Amino acid sequence: MGTIIGAGASMLREDDVSTIGSGAEATTADVDFDVVVVGAGFAGMYLLHRLRGLGLSARVIEAGADVGGTWYWNRYPGARCDIQSVDYSYSFDPELDETWKWTEKYAPQPEILRYAQHVADKHDLRRDIQFSTRVESAVWDESTSRWQLRTSDGRTITSRFYVMATGCLSMPKEVDIAGTDRFAGEVYFTSRWPHEGVDLSGKRVGVIGTGSSAIQSIPIMAAEAAQLTVFQRTPNFSMPANNGPIPQEKLDALAKGRPQYREAARWSGAGVTVEISTTSALAVSEEERLAKYEDVWEHGGIIQAINSYMDNLVNPAANELLCEFVRNKIRATVNDPETAEALCPKTFPIGTKRLCVDTGYYETFNRPNVRLVDLREHPIASITETGVDLVDESLEFDVIVFATGFDAMTGAIVGVDITGRDGLTLKQAWSEGPKTYLGLMAAGFPNLFMITGPGSPSVLSNMMVSIEQHVDWIADCIDQLRADGLSTIEPTPAAVDGWVQHVNDYANITLMPQANSWYMGANVPGKPRVFLPYAGGVDRYRTICNEVVADDYLGFERRGPDGQRRNDGVVRRVQPDVQLMLEAMAGMNLPTMDSMSAAEAREFSNAIAAQRAPGPDVGEIVDGVLPGAAGDLTYRLYRPASPGPHPIVVYFHGGGWVLGSHDSDDPLCRDLCVRSDAILVSVDYRHAPEARFPAAADDAFAATQWIAENAAALGGIPGDLAVAGWSAGGNLAAIVSQLARDAGGPRIVGQLLLTPVTDCDFSRASYTENADGYVLTTPLMHWFWNHYADPEDRTSPKASPIRAETLADLPPAMIVTCEFDPLRDEGAAYAEALAAAGVPVRHLPCRGQIHTSLPAVDMLLSGVPIRAEMAAAIRGFFTANVPA
Ligand code: FAD
Ligand code: NAP
Repeated sequence: MGTIIGAGASMLREDDVSTIGSGAEATTADVDFDVVVVGAGFAGMYLLHRLRGLGLSARVIEAGADVGGTWYWNRYPGARCDIQSVDYSYSFDPELDETWKWTEKYAPQPEILRYAQHVADKHDLRRDIQFSTRVESAVWDESTSRWQLRTSDGRTITSRFYVMATGCLSMPKEVDIAGTDRFAGEVYFTSRWPHEGVDLSGKRVGVIGTGSSAIQSIPIMAAEAAQLTVFQRTPNFSMPANNGPIPQEKLDALAKGRPQYREAARWSGAGVTVEISTTSALAVSEEERLAKYEDVWEHGGIIQAINSYMDNLVNPAANELLCEFVRNKIRATVNDPETAEALCPKTFPIGTKRLCVDTGYYETFNRPNVRLVDLREHPIASITETGVDLVDESLEFDVIVFATGFDAMTGAIVGVDITGRDGLTLKQAWSEGPKTYLGLMAAGFPNLFMITGPGSPSVLSNMMVSIEQHVDWIADCIDQLRADGLSTIEPTPAAVDGWVQHVNDYANITLMPQANSWYMGANVPGKPRVFLPYAGGVDRYRTICNEVVADDYLGFERRGPDGQRRNDGVVRRVQPDVQLMLEAMAGMNLPTMDSMSAAEAREFSNAIAAQRAPGPDVGEIVDGVLPGAAGDLTYRLYRPASPGPHPIVVYFHGGGWVLGSHDSDDPLCRDLCVRSDAILVSVDYRHAPEARFPAAADDAFAATQWIAENAAALGGIPGDLAVAGWSAGGNLAAIVSQLARDAGGPRIVGQLLLTPVTDCDFSRASYTENADGYVLTTPLMHWFWNHYADPEDRTSPKASPIRAETLADLPPAMIVTCEFDPLRDEGAAYAEALAAAGVPVRHLPCRGQIHTSLPAVDMLLSGVPIRAEMAAAIRGFFTANVPA
């Protein structure tokens, strides 16, 4: 037997380095544990409880002198939670949940700290927590598969697993104002407020910062101090706490069943059950909108405010309406118009920085002893021995309070010198921003877990819910490794890259990246500008984490004495808004089109088109008729608002030659018209099965000829045309380009082929990989071809343009393909074939998109950059052909 060292150490056998729970050898370390946890906030406390329950030896190391984390350190006057206390509390212990009574809707810091202490007492946690000790470094020892930690008391601790429960908002931001150390008066940080409190009475106090901490403390400090000066660099949005007793509707909801209430929170978007609007702020009357805002202002909280309309965080126009509502509240509250205006945030969308919750913040600026200094107008030159020198004024203080925030989400993690496999440090690995898998682990750092790490919903949620979810996931993972006889786990680089991409993709469909927020790392000079939390929501995130486990730890490599289990892969590859669209469609249980007759499918497709929001406004829309190959065809012309004449693009809608109309592709045509500043003429053509091959191709060519001949009359620039089309329309645009070349006209200067059908061959990989689940299915493609062309006709270049005798001398092309589209590979093949034939071609493969993404102008924000490139290509077709 090895030596048993220290309280809480497991009984360690020297020969055992591969199993968990049964112990491991005592190394040169002072003590060895199955798991070391850094931090005794709510995360570390619950994790300790879970680990004990699994029979694992665990030690928590905490820099503070007691439990509570955030609520141990942040003792500034007015500190309280901004999520209602009945929600912002543990759910893992039903007895605790039933018996602990919160005194207020938003409990103050001392009460939350007492709660943490009560939990520690109830579960006898402190005996495994080493307080007043900081973990300084952690090094992975490959030979023993253990972490070696150095602590501030000079000791070494080893452990199989190492968990950073170090908090997202625990590392105060370093002061970045010149002269701070010269000030001779009292200096306090809200994040490190003295335990004994501070007497501000009769003192001249300056507060730097106007984030949540400042906004909570300013009203109380103002009531006590002789004078209070608030230094504001960026005004923040704050809403009233309306604090008081726990609201009756909360009590009613809890009375209906606490476990169900808690479970609903776990599966909600932000970890709190609130009503989620499915209405656009732009779709209701001003009266209705203001009534909703007022209701949230009076009775709601920050999560209700953000969710008051579905597009608050994605549509700048919708967001601005809520911004202006809050600004008007500020203007109505603050007596001095100049001060009121200075307090109005105007530089970022509401909700893209955490919304503040206050009690009397704006009213405080009506007090005679309070002054607001707008640092944008009067920047700080330096802090001096006696106060603060602005560029144009010197101010004297007895006390300066820094409410300047935190090095959020990564600060406390990289604050420990962590070295993983092969000498890689976490600081190096994260030099361009944090790279995690699920916000839980990083590649190259085996057995190192983070609780609410970057890349998880964490700070965008009720953190109690997110903390409990992570703790449970980690504890279950360690337990499973033990059960499987495995000793290490780490994510694969591909899984990490995929997750980082997904986190960015989510952020990019919101307005979040627009703010200089701590979510973006923008508050700390030199920190990489990366969106740190996961914006996909607690519910979706929980589903993903569960899926990873159910899929045999997808994206992880696990090792043990018997070898390794590597299940490489990326858990989410579809663009987040596409995923939402797919989920919404799945929820509707729609019939598949290939189970319908052509007439039914058309009716179905028309009904969907009728429900869609229109695309952007264009200058003019004209419906007309032109001669096709066998009778009249309708067209719809989209004219830009700018003065003409404009270049003309002939556009063919999608729909597998069977369905589709001007309406189905209307939003896309509008969007392309606006973005490219060209006329789009969307041409209808005869549909199969009534008019089979080659009717559509013949109509498309006839229409193009007529438009070329009538370009001037249509308001276009005669001479040059471009063609464009989506799906089967892309097929027609490609064929028209070939027919025009072969016929010696009309002159076509460019072809924009959007996820085109180019071949009748179903053997390409994308037909198998994307056969089902992404709207356009392989069976549906068979259905389309069967309606359109006999098998012997399908190989004709008039059906399969890739089969043309030669592709030389065709117009320059842009071909857009989507990753999750059965047609992906034939589009790519056409691009390659054109390039091989010497045709200038740009292939734009769209990551995470599906066949129907491109026309979904009204639904998909992730398509915006793609549509911008499509429009740029159209402009390029014409400018490249301007005579020298
Ligand atoms: P923390 O509570 O931050 O605990 C981490 C602990 O790790 C700290 O005690 C720290 O001392 C310790 N530590 C860090 N590094 C080391 C090291 N190297 N060695 C030893 N110990 C270390 N969230 C909400 O959801 N709702 C709210 O209302 C809310 N209000 C907040 C109010 C304030 C003032 C602040 C700052 C944050 C608030 N938050 C809120 C976020 C809050 O941080 C979390 O809700 C939660 O308390 C975090 O718990 P934690 O255990 O993960 O981290
Ligand atoms: P914060 O939101 O980052 O605010 C810091 C403030 O200091 C900002 O106004 C910032 O201005 C200002 N500042 C920083 N450096 C400055 C400088 N050099 N010169 C002038 N001003 C400077 O920090 P926080 O208020 O501590 O809040 C952090 C987070 O903790 C919150 O977002 C919230 O999640 C949590 N919190 C919650 C509550 C609650 O209500 N429960 C209370 C406190 C904190 P700029 O904006 O211009 O950078």
